[in-house]
Amino acid sequence: MIEIDQLTKVYDGGVAVDNVSMTVETGTITVIVGTSGSGKTTLLRMINRLEEPTSGVVRMNGDLTNSMPKHILRRRVGYAIQGHGLFPHYTVARNIGTVPTLLGWPADKIRARVDELLELFSLDPTQFRDRFPTELSGGQQQRVGVARALASRPDLLLMDEPFGALDPIIRAKAQTDLRSIQRALGSTIMLVTHDMEEAIHLGDRVAVMDAGRLVQYGTPTEIIRYPETDFVSEMVGGLDRPLRLLSLSTVSDIVEDGPAEGEALDVGMNLRDALSQCLWTGRDDAPVIRDGTVIGRVTIDAIRARAEGRQ
Ligand code: ADP
Ligand code: MG
Repeated sequence: MIEIDQLTKVYDGGVAVDNVSMTVETGTITVIVGTSGSGKTTLLRMINRLEEPTSGVVRMNGDLTNSMPKHILRRRVGYAIQGHGLFPHYTVARNIGTVPTLLGWPADKIRARVDELLELFSLDPTQFRDRFPTELSGGQQQRVGVARALASRPDLLLMDEPFGALDPIIRAKAQTDLRSIQRALGSTIMLVTHDMEEAIHLGDRVAVMDAGRLVQYGTPTEIIRYPETDFVSEMVGGLDRPLRLLSLSTVSDIVEDGPAEGEALDVGMNLRDALSQCLWTGRDDAPVIRDGTVIGRVTIDAIRARAEGRQ
C-alpha cells in the first residue's frame, strides 16, 4: 500500500502540488489525470524522490520514503516515461536486465526473467532478445521499456504518459496489454495521463488533478456518474454519455443476423466491454453466443450507433 500524506511542492513560480493525500492499494492501477501543468509529473516524481517535497510524506508498505536511502527506494520503485528511454547500444535483453544486473542477480536468473517478461509482452524471446532498439517498432520499444521497469519486481511502478507517443490503435493495444500484464504480475502501478479516456479504461482508481489539487479520487464509475466539481464533469463530459449508454446496454439489444469471425461474445455482455473486445482484437464485428450456440453477430457500427444514441 502506498500512502501519500499531505504532499506539497512549491516552486518559485507557485504551488505545483497542493496538499495531496491519497492511498493506493497494492495490486491496483491508479491513474492520475489532469490538464497540462496540473502537477501530475511533480506528484509522481516526489514519490520516487526525483523531486523532494516541500512538505508531506510518502509511505510505502508502511516505510517512510524520506528515511530510505535513495538507491533502495529506486530499487523498490520502477519508473517508465514517454519515449521509453531505452539504451540504444544495448540489446533488448540487456536493456530489460539493467536493474537486475545492478542488483547483482546471477546471469541465469536475469535471463529467465528477461525471457519471462518478453513472453508476457508477446515478444518471442528467440526473435527479440538480441535485437537493438532501432530494430523495433514504436509499440515494441514501448513494451520493452515497460518490461525493463518491471524487471526487478518493484513494489511500485510509476509511469508518466507512457503511451503519449503511440498512435491510437497501438495505444489501445498497449493499454490492454498493460492491464493484463498488471493482472498477471499483481503489480502496483501509478500512471499519469492527460487523457480521461485512458484513465477510465486503465484505472482501478482515478485521481483527477486540477491546479495542483486532487479534486476527485474514485473508481471510474464514480468519476463518470458523480463528478464532484465542474472541472471533473467537464473532463468526463465528452465520454460520459456514450459510455454510460454503452454500459447500460447488452449485446442482446443489438444482435443481428450475419456471419462474423473470431472469438465470440456472450449475449449478456455489456456493450462497453463488447466494444473494447472488438477494438482489442482489431475486428469490425464478432459472433454472438447464447448458451454456447452462435445466434448472430454484433458489429462496431451498431455499437457506435448506440453510443451516439442513434439506435
Ligand atoms: P503536469 O505533469 O501535470 O503537466 P507538472 O507537474 O510538470 O504538471 O508541473 C506543474 C507546475 O509546476 C507547472 O506550473 C510547472 O510549470 C511547474 N514546475 C514543474 N517543474 C518545475 C521546476 N523544476 N521549477 C519550477 N516550476 C516547475
Ligand atoms: Mg507531466
